[in-house]
Amino acid sequence: SDHVETSDPHIAASVRREFVRQQDEIELIASENIVSRAVLDVAGSVLTNKYAEGYPGRRYYGGCEFVDEVETLAIDRACELFGCGFANVQPNSGSQANQGVFLALIQPGDTILGLSLDAGGHLTHGAKPNLSGKWFNAVSYGVDPDTHQIDYERVATLAIDHRPKILIAGGSAYPRHIDFARMREIADSVGAYLMVDMAHFAGLVAAGLHPSPFPHAHVATTTTHKTLRGPRGGMILTDDEVIAKKINSAIFPGLQGGPLMHAIAGKAVAFGEALHPSFKDYAKQVIDNAAVLAAKLEEAGFAIVSGGTDTHLMLVDLRPKGITGNLAEKALGRAHITCNKNGVPNDPEKPTVTSGIRLGTPAGTTRGFGTEEFTRIAEMITTVLNGLAENGPEGNGAVEEAVKMEAIALCRAFPIYQDSH
Ligand code: PLP
Repeated sequence: SDHVETSDPHIAASVRREFVRQQDEIELIASENIVSRAVLDVAGSVLTNKYAEGYPGRRYYGGCEFVDEVETLAIDRACELFGCGFANVQPNSGSQANQGVFLALIQPGDTILGLSLDAGGHLTHGAKPNLSGKWFNAVSYGVDPDTHQIDYERVATLAIDHRPKILIAGGSAYPRHIDFARMREIADSVGAYLMVDMAHFAGLVAAGLHPSPFPHAHVATTTTHKTLRGPRGGMILTDDEVIAKKINSAIFPGLQGGPLMHAIAGKAVAFGEALHPSFKDYAKQVIDNAAVLAAKLEEAGFAIVSGGTDTHLMLVDLRPKGITGNLAEKALGRAHITCNKNGVPNDPEKPTVTSGIRLGTPAGTTRGFGTEEFTRIAEMITTVLNGLAENGPEGNGAVEEAVKMEAIALCRAFPIYQDSH
C-alpha cells in the first residue's frame, strides 16, 4: 500500500506523535483551534492535485468545473456569514491576505498606520522586520498606559500628522472590542482606507457575538483557522465593487499563482459549519470560558492586561508573581498546558523573555470544555506558576507532574477525533 504508514514511517510517526500531543495537552494558544473531521477530510482530498489559476468561470486551466463549484460556495457562504458583497477566498494565509490589500490599494513608500507589535498588533501591520515595515512608511499607535485600550484621540492625532493611506484595526493580542465606527471616522478625516484585520475574532463576528467590521471597513482581512475554526488560510472581504476588483487582481496574478483548492474546500466546509445555529453556541461558550479564565486568574493574584477580555483571548501579566513569560510557557508546557509567552504593553523584558503569556479558549471549547473545566484549568495554571515563583527557573517538578496527570485525564474525558486519526 502507498499509505504513509508504510511508505514513509518517519513522517507517519511524527504525525502520530503530534496527534497524541494534541489529544493529551490542554491547548490554550489563542490562534489555534481543532477543525472538524469534515474540514480535515477535504483539506486532505484529491483537490490538492488541481491547478485552477483565475477565478470561478474564468480559469486558465481546463477541468475546473468541480473546483469552481467549491470556490463559488466558499465565496457565497463567506458573504452570507459576514454580511458583505465580495469575498476573495484564495489567500494562502492571513499574511498574504494583508499583502493583497496593500498591493491592491497603495504604493511602496506610502504610509500605513497600525497597532504596534508591542501593544498587540501583528507583524504584517508595519513591523520593522516584515515586508509591511520595509516597503511602506509604517507608523504605529499603541494603547493607553493605564487602561491598556486603544486611545482613539491619539490615533486621530497620528492620522492627521502622518496622513496614512491605510488605517489598520485589529491585532493578535488585543483582548478588547475595537470601535470600528470611530476608526472609520478617523480614516475618513484623512482620506485613508480602513482595513480591519479580524483574524483573531472572525469566528465571534460570524456568530454575531462581536461587533462587525461592516459597514465601517473598506476592506476586512482574516485568517480562517483561528476562532473561525477552518483550515489554515486567509480571506479578504469588502462591500465595495471597485475595491473587490483590485483585490482579485492583487491576489491573482499579483501575488499568488494557483489557489490551494483543497484549502478552499476546507474553508467552504468551515463556513457552512459557522452558518449553522450551533456555531453561535460554540462562540458564546468561547467568550464565557475566556471571561471565567481571566476572572479566576485575577483572583489568584495575576494581573490581566486591560482588566479583562471581551473576546476569546487574554494577556496575563506575570509581574505580580515575579516570573517571566518564557519560563512560564516552559513550566506550563511540562504540565501539558500549551500557551505562548507574550509581551505586555510597555514590557521591560526582551521579546524572547517577556512579562506575559497569552491565553485563549477556542481550541479547548471545541473539545467540549465549559466554565467548570476552565475554572479548574485556572487553578492548574496557578499551581504550576506558583511553583515556578517559589522554586526558581526549574519550577516545582512534583507539582508539574501532578498537574500533567490531571491535564491528561481532563483531555481524555473530552477526546478529539474519536473515530480514527
Ligand atoms: N493578522 C493577524 C491579526 C494575526 O493574528 C495573524 C496570525 O498570526 C495573521 C494576520 C497572519 O496569519 P498567518 O499566520 O496565516 O499568515
